[in-house]
Amino acid sequence: MKTIFEKSNGADGIGVGDYKLGDFLPAEMLRDGEIGLPQLSELEVLRHYKELSDRNFCIEKGFYPLGSCTMKYNPKVNEFLASLEGFANLHPLQDEEDSQGALELMYNLQEALKHITGMDAITLQPAAGAHGELTGMMVIKKYFEVKGETNRTKVIVPDSAHGTNPASAKMCGFEIVEVKSNDKGQVDVEALKELLDENVAAIMMTNPNTLGIFEEKVLEISKLMHDNGSLLYYDGANFNAVMGWTNPALMGFDVVHLNLHKTFATPHGGGGPGAGPVGVVEKLKDYLPTPVIDCVDGKYVRNYDIKHSIGKVRSFYGNFGILVRAYAYILMMGKNLKLASADAVLNANYLKEKLKGAYDLPYDEPCMHEFVLSGEKQHHQGVSTLGIAKRLMDSNCHPPTVYFPLIVHEALMIEPTESESKEVLDNFVEIMLKIAREIEENPEGVLKSPQTTPIKKVDETLAARKPDLTYKG
Ligand SMILES: *Cc1c(COP(=O)(O)O)cnc(C)c1O
Repeated sequence: MKTIFEKSNGADGIGVGDYKLGDFLPAEMLRDGEIGLPQLSELEVLRHYKELSDRNFCIEKGFYPLGSCTMKYNPKVNEFLASLEGFANLHPLQDEEDSQGALELMYNLQEALKHITGMDAITLQPAAGAHGELTGMMVIKKYFEVKGETNRTKVIVPDSAHGTNPASAKMCGFEIVEVKSNDKGQVDVEALKELLDENVAAIMMTNPNTLGIFEEKVLEISKLMHDNGSLLYYDGANFNAVMGWTNPALMGFDVVHLNLHKTFATPHGGGGPGAGPVGVVEKLKDYLPTPVIDCVDGKYVRNYDIKHSIGKVRSFYGNFGILVRAYAYILMMGKNLKLASADAVLNANYLKEKLKGAYDLPYDEPCMHEFVLSGEKQHHQGVSTLGIAKRLMDSNCHPPTVYFPLIVHEALMIEPTESESKEVLDNFVEIMLKIAREIEENPEGVLKSPQTTPIKKVDETLAARKPDLTYKG
């Protein structure tokens, strides 16, 4: 079948309009009646979506201490900048000459992230943290393949790791070996030594880890790994804790991903688009996905000429709108990025100290940007962590992350971020202490929550098994 463009591209003086659709499509594919779409007025549609958005909780409505997910303040000017016509309407296939501004932004962002992470090269392509992990593990795999060390089939992952770490390594064909944490909530170095042999390709670490605790032995660990001929992968999801104070290169890591949507200001609740750039040290530079954005004689170019490239990991160049937001945030903050981390750490320690009397704190250590309580005591009194989370919703507060990390029973993982005031933090403390008292006095009452939200307490089994997804006007 000829396409409309083969028959006339307009150059022969015959406009596309001179043809009828029936000239190109087989008769059985043509519609012969009304399509039957629901007919609603603009106002009815607007009211429907406004109603839905009003039901939604968001950072603009209240405190959002979702540990590990860093729901920090996202400056509204970012939205304005990302929607500028030259950014938002630029076609990804536009010629390089016509896209110099966008390419310059990507190049400058790569340079900024190199500076912040200490890495030697960056790809902006991965669309999320987990996607960055996959990319990084593919780079590590190819590096050992090219070196002829195909015996390196194992990847070590701490028991506190985010589930995406073992999943990403496994998807690359690695075998996962778990290393346990010690009683300080850190990687047990002696246990790690036991696991090292010539088959270990890498260790994946998060620092601070998912307990919000800094891995103090990280230099010893990186020496051990490198002496073993292995590499170190840094899960940068918790970078909000250390920006500008230290970096993964100083800690001895070889590959890093950042979650721009966590650390560098992009709203991402509800699984919206993200970006998970990956940085690598010099010897892994030639393995990055193509294209990398380069600057040659003052012109910004898409470089596809990367010797051992693992190829593309995403269409075009990544989630460009997120890159604009991150770049704007970094330029706005400048050296104050360091203060954002300092305040995030201060706020978390403040909450931890205020709450540790009423709730169990399994790892009573100074924390970084987040900390993990256990609802074990409340569970024995009749309300599980899930019940505490639901009760918080009645006080216009988003629940913290619950039941993660897995090594803490009834975990409540709290991350206040840098952008909340002391009043907001004190109010949260008051609510949490009130809930602890309520559970002691009347656990059944707490179990009725949430009662003030647009959707009250739901039957979770029914909601999962028989979801009612129909629109009722
Ligand atoms: C969020 C997170 C990830 C995964 O990042 P996504 O952007 O959600 O894919 C990985 N590790 C840790 C520690 C995280 O908190």
